[in-house]
Amino acid sequence: MSDLILFWHRRDLRISDNIGLAAARQQSPKVVGIFCLDRNILNRDDVAPARVTYMIGCLQKLQQRYSEAGSQLLIIQDDPSLGIPKLATAINAKAVFWNWDVEPYAKQRDRSVSSALEQAGIQVQNFWDQVLHAPDEIRSGTGTPYTVYTPFWKKWNSKPKAQPVETLPITYLELMTGLTAEEQEIAHQAGAIETLPTASSLGFIWENPLVIEPGEDAAKKKLEEFCEIAIYEYQEQRNFPATNGTSQLSAALKFGAIGIRTVWQATQIVMETCRNEEACTSIGTWQQEIAWREFYQHAMYNFPELADGPYRPAFKDFPWENDEKLFQAWCRGKTGYPIIDAAMRQLNQTGWMHNRCRMIVASFLTKDLIINWQWGEKYFMQKLIDGDLSANNGGWQWSASSGMDSKPLRIFNPASQAQKFDPEGEYIRHWVPELRRVDTKLLLTGNLSSLERRLLPYPSPIVDHNEQQRKFKELYKQQKI
Ligand SMILES: Cc1cc2nc3c(=O)[nH]c(=O)nc-3n(C[C@H](O)[C@H](O)[C@H](O)COP(=O)(O)OP(=O)(O)OC[C@H]3O[C@@H](n4cnc5c(N)ncnc54)[C@H](O)[C@@H]3O)c2cc1C
Repeated sequence: MSDLILFWHRRDLRISDNIGLAAARQQSPKVVGIFCLDRNILNRDDVAPARVTYMIGCLQKLQQRYSEAGSQLLIIQDDPSLGIPKLATAINAKAVFWNWDVEPYAKQRDRSVSSALEQAGIQVQNFWDQVLHAPDEIRSGTGTPYTVYTPFWKKWNSKPKAQPVETLPITYLELMTGLTAEEQEIAHQAGAIETLPTASSLGFIWENPLVIEPGEDAAKKKLEEFCEIAIYEYQEQRNFPATNGTSQLSAALKFGAIGIRTVWQATQIVMETCRNEEACTSIGTWQQEIAWREFYQHAMYNFPELADGPYRPAFKDFPWENDEKLFQAWCRGKTGYPIIDAAMRQLNQTGWMHNRCRMIVASFLTKDLIINWQWGEKYFMQKLIDGDLSANNGGWQWSASSGMDSKPLRIFNPASQAQKFDPEGEYIRHWVPELRRVDTKLLLTGNLSSLERRLLPYPSPIVDHNEQQRKFKELYKQQKI
């Protein structure tokens, strides 16, 4: 009987603190990693070049880690339900292990891969890894999933959290045995390759520098740096887009370049040694963001229909105006509202956008331009390095007022948001350089003088905020939401 276990990496592009991989290594020294470049995902029209470039970077680092550990990470370019059973059968694997995912497509795909493997007599073992608590662990008193964040957070926070798996007494992952040369040849014939394609050879061209360094080591370093200073000031600094006040760990968390238990443990260590009340509040606030991530992942798992439309049924027939020209102006950062344009240009040029700005531009698209939030959701997925179905869908439904939220009608005024969160206009000036000489007061409100309007290559506001706000409220009222 073969002792080979294949470990299928998906949203866990790391060796350390990986529950499924640690279990595989515990059961056999002969563990080989696989990653499937899934055409069903890569052929979708919402895949961001920056995200694929980051993912390929993580895979490169992961391959190095496998090689240092004495094994291999094989790449398959196929439909997983065909490619994985084909490879596992050809190289006589005894089992395939992987960590579960919450997304509807992943759940259905995993069922087909499992059943094909089981039919071929190959064992399957699965684990929860990407969340601190599995979706069925966090239930209300009546056993139903939570649909509001605050009670979710209370229950979630009250539960003890697992430690990173690498801190167990035995480090199972120290050494692995990979495939022999002969087995590698067989794997090759079954479609597995060892050379990673580049993002551009897969059709995803990202020419700008990646703002987030890929891989496990880079993610750990980011976490360490964040926990040195910024986490203590997070409560105060997190809303200012010109400041480097957040962790920028979202892409690493999306692709699992870092384990969520490692992240949580780091927050506990700083909390235990924290002696200043404000700093402790900041750490707590950051922990709540980690819980928001999990709230949306559980929501997607429990209510897969969220992926296709609004949570609140009354929103299904909302009379969105969906003006294509206004949408294009929003996408290109040419709305005439400086804070909106700065944020959209940051997204287009870096693949990342500050959370405060994500909320402002999402409110603007839905409440000012009266465009269906799903257009914005898709555009974000086409651009974001950290684009993640659950978090993105959650963020958009929150902003559109169509989601699970106890305070539904929320409209942001772009000018007052800019005055509050970019008071010196630093962020706007950086991303909208044609306005850098404009007086700060006018820059923040977007009320440029008529001379400036004529001289500067910058558009007049494409809509009037107050008028649109009234219109949206009226439509909202008519829908009896
Ligand atoms: C319209 C909209 C779309 C969004 N799309 C995405 C997305 O595609 N992917 C994504 O990871 N986040 C998304 N977010 C949430 C949030 O903006 C980002 O997670 C955050 O800006 C990432 O920066 P950071 O890592 O520095 O965050 P930090 O402030 O350091 O937070 C730490 C981590 O907590 C999680 N987190 C923080 N805020 C949220 C939140 N509101 N919802 C879910 N998780 C959160 C992220 O994993 C983040 O890395 C979206 C928010 C909005 C309003």
